[in-house]
Amino acid sequence: MSDFEAQLRDASLRVTRPRLAVLAALRDHPHIDTETVIELVRADLETVSHQAIYDVLRALTDAGLIRRIQPAGALARYESRVGDNHHHVVCRSCGAIADVDCAVGHTPCLTASDDHGFVIDQAEVVYWGTCPACAAERTP
Ligand SMILES: [Zn+2]
Ligand SMILES: [Zn+2]
Repeated sequence: MSDFEAQLRDASLRVTRPRLAVLAALRDHPHIDTETVIELVRADLETVSHQAIYDVLRALTDAGLIRRIQPAGALARYESRVGDNHHHVVCRSCGAIADVDCAVGHTPCLTASDDHGFVIDQAEVVYWGTCPACAAERTP
């Protein structure tokens, strides 16, 4: 049994080829948008419909096996690195995204200076800037 099969079973999801294909695509290509997920999955499983892949993305997100991120003004992206409350740095020019661990130690951002009595389980931090490739293009 593969890791992906075990993950699906642990989440009480049926093991299907489209679900395995989506998990594999996101492991190999973090932070891709829906269109790219569809392209990668259909390269392997030509007969899977777009709708079926949308459904898989929703089911895996709801089960917490993948995470949906949506920087302001950008398309939703998906990744399979979940559960560590990591953050993202986004390039304003080309939309490239990279992972950033919590600024200091383990998920300190979950400790708000004042939680107003809320039970906090996620902090969303997006760092915006220019990626090295775009910065290089600008400096001749
Ligand atoms: Zn860029
Ligand atoms: Zn990430």
